[in-house]
Amino acid sequence: LASRVFHPENTIVEVDGVKIGDGSVTIMAGPCSVESEEQLMTTAFAVQREGAHILRGGAFKPRTSPYSFQGMGEEGLKILRKAKEATGMPIVTEVMCQDTFDIVEEYADILQIGARNMQNFPLLKRAGRSQRPILLKRGLSATIEELLMSAEYIMSEGNHNVILCERGVRTFETYTRNTFDVSAVPVIKELSHLPIVTDPSHATGKWSMVDPLAKASVAAGADGLVIEVHHQPEVALCDGAQSLKPEKFAKLMRGIEKLVEIR
Ligand code: PEP
Ligand code: MN
Repeated sequence: LASRVFHPENTIVEVDGVKIGDGSVTIMAGPCSVESEEQLMTTAFAVQREGAHILRGGAFKPRTSPYSFQGMGEEGLKILRKAKEATGMPIVTEVMCQDTFDIVEEYADILQIGARNMQNFPLLKRAGRSQRPILLKRGLSATIEELLMSAEYIMSEGNHNVILCERGVRTFETYTRNTFDVSAVPVIKELSHLPIVTDPSHATGKWSMVDPLAKASVAAGADGLVIEVHHQPEVALCDGAQSLKPEKFAKLMRGIEKLVEIR
């Protein structure tokens, strides 16, 4: 179902009038995690002002350590809902497990399945029975074939609105958090009709590398970008080192606009 051989024309995923995969570049931006209403609202208005289309923010966080901030849970979802009402931007947030699926599905416009869950097959099947589009992130050491097979799990249950996301994979290199595989973009364009976006924030773990790799992504043909933005990255509860301040995000947007049509 994900293969281009049997479905040559590109899939366009539409959410609240925002089209992903229509030839323009869709920007999904916002903090790693929802931390408070004030934090999310500040960042939401900032990214909207600079031209973002979709607001991101995690309420249920898959953290490496159980002692790290785990996200605000349902309270975070409610804040995301408020930010959507205030800005009009649709929201994307991660769904981590089947127990919380229904509640996340109720609040989110796009459901993210994170890298760590790319091969959580029961979760993929549940996502396949959802009416919401799914943002499926590539696993930490997953091949592109494996990513496409995970998309197949979702699609085979009936949900064909799948957006793929390259977010870096683990290699021997340790300078960056992951190694950004820009070749995933043209490879997926060749193999599949599904939209492919990239996440240079998680791919590098360093804010200074987000801008150049965002440009590389759109030059390679990506349908969109996922960018972490925080109004005070130095005090962020999660992923501050890779988060752009609003003024840096503005600079990134102006650079991208020179390369491609954002909308
Ligand atoms: C995220 O988007 O905040 C996230 C945890 O991403 P990934 O699953 O790619 O690590
Ligand atoms: Mn993050």
